Amino acid sequence: MAKRQFKAESKRLLELMINSIYTHKEIFLRELISNASDAIDKIYYRALTDENISFNKDDYYIKITPDKESRTLTISDTGIGMTKEELEKNLGVIAKSGSLAFKKENELKDGHDIIGQFGVGFYSAFMVADVVTVITKSIDSDEAFKWESKGADGYTIKAVEKDTVGTDIILKIKDNTEDENYDEFVDEYRLQNIIKKYSDFIRYPIKMDIAER
Ligand code: ADP
Ligand code: MG
Repeated sequence: MAKRQFKAESKRLLELMINSIYTHKEIFLRELISNASDAIDKIYYRALTDENISFNKDDYYIKITPDKESRTLTISDTGIGMTKEELEKNLGVIAKSGSLAFKKENELKDGHDIIGQFGVGFYSAFMVADVVTVITKSIDSDEAFKWESKGADGYTIKAVEKDTVGTDIILKIKDNTEDENYDEFVDEYRLQNIIKKYSDFIRYPIKMDIAER
């Protein structure tokens, strides 16, 4: 499958994230939960104007699933999902992400400033994951798609099966190095604390689902 390349600007941010020495890497979860919440907002507003869509509050939630064995962390939402075109447009280009658009090139050199003060968005996942997989089905599409990237060398998109509308983001958490330990990102208790600290204001339920074997 052909690799698609990130736009130059995105690639720079991506490299910054991949090599980040930022100490609060945990904020990636705030970013992904906030995206999930935005996606549910969108389906909610759609339901207000489209009588074919009913919004039953219980059906809308965010689910966090750590799996120590496969060393993955999955963030799922029942939000509006993305079409293939939206995947391409939203995850291939960083200029979209409001935060960065306002930052000048020289400010990019010191990642701390950006990461601390602004939402760095989706790409912050690459601070803790070496593979990011997005499986999504849009409310406007019968097909589902899988976007996958190992970082700055590009991404792939292919058709997959997914029954329900919404998005699953699967992070393959990095292996520990001499300097960095990432185990906390598959630890349910630590994750609960991170959620409490950064995502307490989210309007939709955040459930934790421990992978069972
Ligand atoms: P921002 O949230 O500032 O727009 P992000 O980098 O966080 O920037 O996300 C980029 C875009 O990707 C979002 O604007 C949205 O269109 C899309 N996106 C990201 N996560 C999801 C998701 N879980 N469901 C639907 N769309 C998403
Ligand atoms: Mg965002």
